[in-house]
Parts: sequence; C-alpha cells; structure tokens
Amino acid sequence: MCGHVCHRVVVQRRYRGVAEGTLRWVAAQISRMRENRVVQGRMVTPERLAELVEGESVIEAEPIEDADRVCPDCGGDVLTVGYMPSALEFVNAWKCQECDWGETDRE
Ligand SMILES: [Zn+2]
Repeated sequence: MCGHVCHRVVVQRRYRGVAEGTLRWVAAQISRMRENRVVQGRMVTPERLAELVEGESVIEAEPIEDADRVCPDCGGDVLTVGYMPSALEFVNAWKCQECDWGETDRE
C-alpha cells in the first residue's frame, strides 16, 4: 500500500533529522567541554582565562591548550591561551592552574 510505505519513509526521514540534530548538539557540548578548563578550582572559558591574565575583558580568545612548561612559582601545570585584548593586538598568555602566576609574551 502506497500510503503505508510513504508514511514509513516520512518517519525514517524525520528520525534521521532528529538523530543528526542530536549528534550536532552532543558534538557542540563536547567541544564546549574541551574549551573549558579548571583553573584554581574554577571552570573557566578561554575568554575568562585570558581575562585572568590580562586583568580586563578581551575581545576574543582561542581555545585553551596545555603549555609544555610548569609554573615557576608552584610547579603546577600551566595552560596557554591566545587572545585579542584589542582589535590591533594578539597576545599569547600562560597561566598556572594552581596559583595566581600568569604572564604574556608582550614586550
Ligand atoms: Zn603556580
């Protein structure tokens, strides 16, 4: 019966659409979780981490990465983030995950 088959195709299409939407949502959540890191016991976004080092809000920040170095103050793990404090400047910053230590590559 045509009606029956057509109905099934519609349901399958609808299900596929929902499944793709769910996968996109899950992927977005995972990438968001990867971007956020724990610094001094708090979950921070790249923008928040950049603000911690900069001392004021930034325009844009790249995803946080693990820096291949340890904190000179406490020996803790150091994270690195690139950000734009203004439209004309790009700064790389390093921030300890355990203490207040942080620095930038600004001259
Ligand atoms: Zn430290």
